[in-house]
Order: sequence, then structure tokens, then C-alpha cells
Amino acid sequence: MPNNQGTTLQDRLRQLPSVDELLKHPDIHDLLSGVARKIVVDSVREVLEEARRHLLSPHEHPLAAVPSISELVQRASVLCAQKNAFTLHPLVNATGIVVHTNLGRSLLAEEAVQRLQVVCRSYSNLEYDVAKGRRGSRYVHAEAILREITGAEAALVVNNNAAAVLLVLNTLAKGQEVIVSRGQLVEIGGSFRIPDVMAASGAILREVGCTNRTHLYDYERAIGERTRLLMKVHCSNYRLVGFTAEVALEDLVRLARRHNLLVAEDLGSGSLVDVSPVGLPQEPTAQQAVRAGVDVVTFSGDKLLGGPQAGIILGRKEIIALCKKNPLTRALRVDKMTLAALEATLRLYRDEPTAWRRIPTLAMIARPLASLKDQALQLAQRIREAVGITSMNVQVMESFSQVGGGALPERNLPTYVVAVSSQRWSANQLEKFFRANNPPIIGRIESDRFLMDVRTLQNGDPDIIVQAFARLATEEPQ
Ligand SMILES: *Cc1c(COP(=O)(O)O)cnc(C)c1O
Repeated sequence: MPNNQGTTLQDRLRQLPSVDELLKHPDIHDLLSGVARKIVVDSVREVLEEARRHLLSPHEHPLAAVPSISELVQRASVLCAQKNAFTLHPLVNATGIVVHTNLGRSLLAEEAVQRLQVVCRSYSNLEYDVAKGRRGSRYVHAEAILREITGAEAALVVNNNAAAVLLVLNTLAKGQEVIVSRGQLVEIGGSFRIPDVMAASGAILREVGCTNRTHLYDYERAIGERTRLLMKVHCSNYRLVGFTAEVALEDLVRLARRHNLLVAEDLGSGSLVDVSPVGLPQEPTAQQAVRAGVDVVTFSGDKLLGGPQAGIILGRKEIIALCKKNPLTRALRVDKMTLAALEATLRLYRDEPTAWRRIPTLAMIARPLASLKDQALQLAQRIREAVGITSMNVQVMESFSQVGGGALPERNLPTYVVAVSSQRWSANQLEKFFRANNPPIIGRIESDRFLMDVRTLQNGDPDIIVQAFARLATEEPQ
């Protein structure tokens, strides 16, 4: 079968090396020191199969030439690196969204990371009461410090706040009615909707009031035979503005007491510190909910609190005891890594200035504008030097960061961003280029410019960004 190069197909197929031959190539052999043999062999095999396939289908691949050994080695190395890469890996968050749900939410404090290592490298008293020499409970570990910090009678930590809400509703109100304002029937994202969680828990939702206004008498009129719980849900990711009214937690508590009902609050982000001193609107804290006399309050461990993923339930002793007895708790339980990181994070709250300094989520929110500006100007200068004299326009601009994680949705964290535009690269092409970097750099596009907010950059991130720009200067837009 002659072809355009005057050799037969059989000849050309024979020119391809064997798997073993390629494996002996020094470059491939070197890979074996850092990569599992199976991954290297699979990569070599796939590259050879692909080359064979191309040669065998001249209609689909009319120009397929027999690849050289170095070409095959090169392709196998690339494939091998892809196969060997972690699927969960770090990246650069240049979005300015501090608690970015898609990018891993809160970063752990160094103290929490170290504690994780200490506890996970060793056996521990996870479920062992050392003083008594018998089986203990994993739930004691975070409970003492949660009580100390919040003033709650008791506490329980579960897998996340969605689990906490589900557990509380299932424990306290299965088959009974829970009254919630229509203005608080929120969807948090990732299909967490209050009405759906309510249904999954077996509790019966009783909506009251209007979207924009709910009054105490709305709750009062809805109380009936089957009512068990009055529930308040933090609106988190949206804000009611204009002609609005909500009932204060204290008033709900008074009403519930009169009717022998319970009050639960889902705080969502649930800060342990007042965030208003750094220029944010007042967010209700967990301590305030406890002081208001709520029977049970739930919030996330990895939103404003700045710890590991967890759902924290604070409440009266009898209620937490009921939750602990619920068989669902076993299914929603946290592991020792969560408890280790959470305890270490919570200890930082014993001294509020320490919490603001050491917990990355709080520290990023509190960064002074002047320091953000300095960092943005420095980064912009380094980028200009890296790209040299090109058509790239690198500017520092005022903008807004977001707390994220559903907390404080408005534009109220002024920041500085480095904005890049170019005649050669569209904003979309820039975004794609940086997203394809290793590690990926995630920014945002605004008015046809690629924006990087310095607020969420970590140590070392500016170097990664500058290197990516140096590479950009030598490449063509794709
Ligand atoms: C975020 C949020 C949740 C879910 O918390 P997770 O920790 O993500 O499970 C539930 N309720 C509210 C109001 C929230 O903001």
C-alpha cells in the first residue's frame, strides 16, 4: 500500500518504537524515579497507540508522519505529568473573594495546620477518656472551648452547617411544624434551600409573613397544635432593602417562651467577633444569639470563623444532649482532623487581636487599604518589568473585594486591583491563559480588563503571577 512518502503502511508502523524501547530512553527512565511505574508505562503505551491510530486512519489524519523518538518521548512526558498530577491542588486566588466557596473557603491559620500534623501523626484520645481509662466521646474536644468563647451551655460539632441545620430540625421538630418568615426561605447555593432541608429533616415548614415584611403577630397567629419551633435564618447571600421588617431574635424568644416553644437560629456565616470595626456592616455574632436566649444556634466553621469545614451547634444542655443521641449524628460526625484544626482555630479567639492577626480569613478582611494599595503598585511595577515594552497596559485601580461565603453580599470592602489589558490579548484570552497556568491564577474580568485583587494573595503568589506574565510576553494568544 504505497502512500505519499513512498513507503508502505506496514513499513511506517514498523518505524514506531516498542513500549520497551521507549521505556529505556533516558528521559523516560528518569521519570520513573518520581512517578509510579504504572503511570509511566500507561503514558508510553497511550502515546504509541495514538501514533499508530493516526497512521492507520489516513482519511482522518492525512498528514500524519511517523513521529520521531524525541517527539514520542516529549508527548509521553507531558501525558505522564498530566496523569500524575493531583486533582486537588493549590491555586492563586486573585478574585478578592475572601471566603470563596469554589476555591476552598477559609485558609487555616498556621496554628491549625500545625495542630493537624501533631494530632494526625500520632494516636490520640479522640474517643478515650484518659482520666477514667475508658471510652470517651469525640464531641468533648471542641465543646469546652466553644462554651468558653460563646457562653453557650453546650455545643456539638458536625460535618458542616447544612448538616447542623438538618440535625437540629430532625431532632427537635420531626413531624411537627417549624415557623419561618417568607423573607428567610433562602437558597444558599449548592442546592441547600431551607424548604428542602426542612422536608429532608421530616419537619413541616410553616411559612409566615411576606417576602419583605414579617411581624411578630405573623408568627403568633401561625402558632398551633403542631408547632414546635420558631426558626430564624440569616439571609446570608442577599439583602432585603427598602420597606422591610424582620422580628428581632429577642422578641421571637419571648413569644416562644409564652407558648412553650423552642427557637432556633441558622446564622450561616456565624462570626465570633464583631466585624463592624473593619468597616463592614454589623453581622450578628454567635455570642449575641446565645445571649438573646436562643435554644439552639448553628453556623459554619469555614466561613467567617476561618476554621475547617464544620457545622457548629450551640445551645441549651438538654437540646444538645438530644442532638447527640440522634442516630443521624453518627452519619454527620466530624473526624479528628476537623476537631484538631477547629480547636486550634478557636483557641486564637481567646484574645481577639490575636484572632484578627492569625486567622487568615479575618486578617484578609482587616487588611488596611494603604497596604493593599502598596502591594498593588508593587505588583503592577513587577509585571511591567516582566512583560517589557509590549502593548500591555498594566494599571492599579480602586475596586471592591467581597467577604464571600454568603456573608455580607454588598460591595463594602474597598480594595486595589491590578488591571491588565492588551491589544494582542482580549480579557477573555488573558483570563484563560492565567487559568491554565501551573498553578492556576484565578482573577476576574471587568470592562474588558483582567483584574487581580491583591487582598486574597498569599505569600509567594506575586512571584507566581510575575512569572506567568514573563511567559505571557513570549506567547501568542490562544
Ligand atoms: C452557608 C450557609 C449554610 C450552609 O453551611 P455549610 O457550612 O456550607 O454547610 C446554611 N445556612 C446558611 C444561612 C448559610 O449561609
